[in-house]
Amino acid sequence: MADNQAQDLLSRRYRVMGHHTPLFYEKPLQLVRGEGVWLWDSEGKRYLDVYNNVPHVGHCNPRVVEALSRQASTLNIHTRYLHNNIVDYLERLTATFDDSLQMAMLTCTGSEANELALRMARYCTGGQGIIVTDFAYHGNTEAVAEIGTGFMPEAKTTKRVKAFPIPDSYRGIDGLTGEALAQAYADRVQQAIDAFHAEGIKVAGILVCPDFANEGLLNVPAGFLEQAVAKVRKAGGVYIADEVQVGFGRSGKHFWAHQWYDVTPDIVTMGKPMGNGHPLAGVVARPEMIEAFSKEAMYFNTFGGNPVSCAVGMAVLDVLQEDNLMQNAVTTGAYVTDGLNKLQQKHELIGEVRDLGMFFGVELVQSRTSKAPAKAEARRIINRMRDKGVLISTIGVHNSILKLRPPMPFQPEHGDILLEMLDEVLTEMEGRV
Ligand code: PMP
Repeated sequence: MADNQAQDLLSRRYRVMGHHTPLFYEKPLQLVRGEGVWLWDSEGKRYLDVYNNVPHVGHCNPRVVEALSRQASTLNIHTRYLHNNIVDYLERLTATFDDSLQMAMLTCTGSEANELALRMARYCTGGQGIIVTDFAYHGNTEAVAEIGTGFMPEAKTTKRVKAFPIPDSYRGIDGLTGEALAQAYADRVQQAIDAFHAEGIKVAGILVCPDFANEGLLNVPAGFLEQAVAKVRKAGGVYIADEVQVGFGRSGKHFWAHQWYDVTPDIVTMGKPMGNGHPLAGVVARPEMIEAFSKEAMYFNTFGGNPVSCAVGMAVLDVLQEDNLMQNAVTTGAYVTDGLNKLQQKHELIGEVRDLGMFFGVELVQSRTSKAPAKAEARRIINRMRDKGVLISTIGVHNSILKLRPPMPFQPEHGDILLEMLDEVLTEMEGRV
C-alpha cells in the first residue's frame, strides 16, 4: 500500500471506528485477496499466511464458497422454521464428540458461545463462581469479559471469577517438574475453590482452552487438567472446554483438543474455524444440561444456525475429511516442528518450541538460563517476517511467544519458506543484538 494511501485509510478508520481494535504490525497490512495459504495486499505483494485459523480449510476455499452461494441464492432465514441444514449439520458435528456430548446450540461468535456456556453452567449448578487461568481471554460480552483475566478490566472487579496460575511446564513453580508440578497447579485450583467457599460463593465451573493457546500454547504438566476438573466437580462445578481456537482437527490426532486428555468436558464451546470466515459458532453439551436449561431459560439466536451458516459448516467438515487435513496436520506439523527444533539448536533466542498438530509456539528468551521473555525481539521478528512476506504473530503473558497457526492445507513446502525466513530474521537480529 502506498504510504500516503495507507495513512489516509488509517486516519479514516480511527475517525469512524475509534481505537478499539488494535491492528497488526508497525506498518498495518491492507489485504485484498486470499487463496489457500496465500494472501495479497493492495499493491499485489503476496504473503504466506502462517497465522490465520479462521480460514481453516484455506482462504476462499472453492467448495465452501460454492456451498455458501448455492444456499444463499435458495433460502436464508432465521431458525424458527424447520430446515434440513441445521439438523444434518448438528448430527454430523455431534458425531465428532464423546457419546455424552450429543446436543448442540448455535451462535455467531465464540464470545456468544462462551456467554451461553456460562449461563448454562450457572443455571444448572446453581453456582456463580467460575475458575480460569490468570491470563485468560475468552471473548467480549460482559459476562465473558469478567473471565478475561489477561485483558479485561471487568475481570479485576468481579467477585464471580477466580484465577489460577497458567500451568506452564517451561517456567513451572518452585522448581517442581512432572507429577509434582501438575499437583502444585491443581492445588492452586483448589485454593480458588476454597477462596470462593470462604466468600460464600458456590462454584459453577472451570473454563479453559484445553491447549491454553492464548496463554502461550503451554506444555501442560501431565495429569494437571484431570486433577483440576476432579476438584471442580467435587465442589459441584462443571468443566467447560473452550475450543474456539484449537478445535476442528487442528491438533491432528484428535478432532477436539480436549480429547487429548483423560477427562471429558460437560460443555464445549467452538467458533473461529467452524465457518471458514463465515460467522458460525456454538456450544455442544451434555443433553441433560441443555434440556434443564431450556425448561426455563430462553435462548434464541436470529442468525445462529441459519441455513447458509449450516451449509458452510457442513462444507468445512466435508473439506477437512475429503482432503485428509487432520492427517496433514500430523505430518506437516511434525515436519515444521522438526525444522523449528533445528532453529532452536542454532539460535539462542529460542527457549522452547511447542507444537500441537498445525499449531506451533516458539518461546523467545533473552537467556536460556534466566528465561527472561524476549518481548522486544518478538515484536521485531513479526515485523521483519511481514516485510519478508510471511505473516505470524505473538501470544503469551509477555507477547514473547511466536504464534504460528496456519490454515490447515499448509504443506511442507510452505513450512520451508517459513523456516528459511525465520532463520534469516533470527540471524539478522543476532548480528544486531
Ligand atoms: N475463546 C478463545 C480461546 C478465543 O481465542 C477467542 C477469540 N480470540 C474467543 C473465545 C472469542 O471468539 P469471538 O472473537 O468469535 O467472539
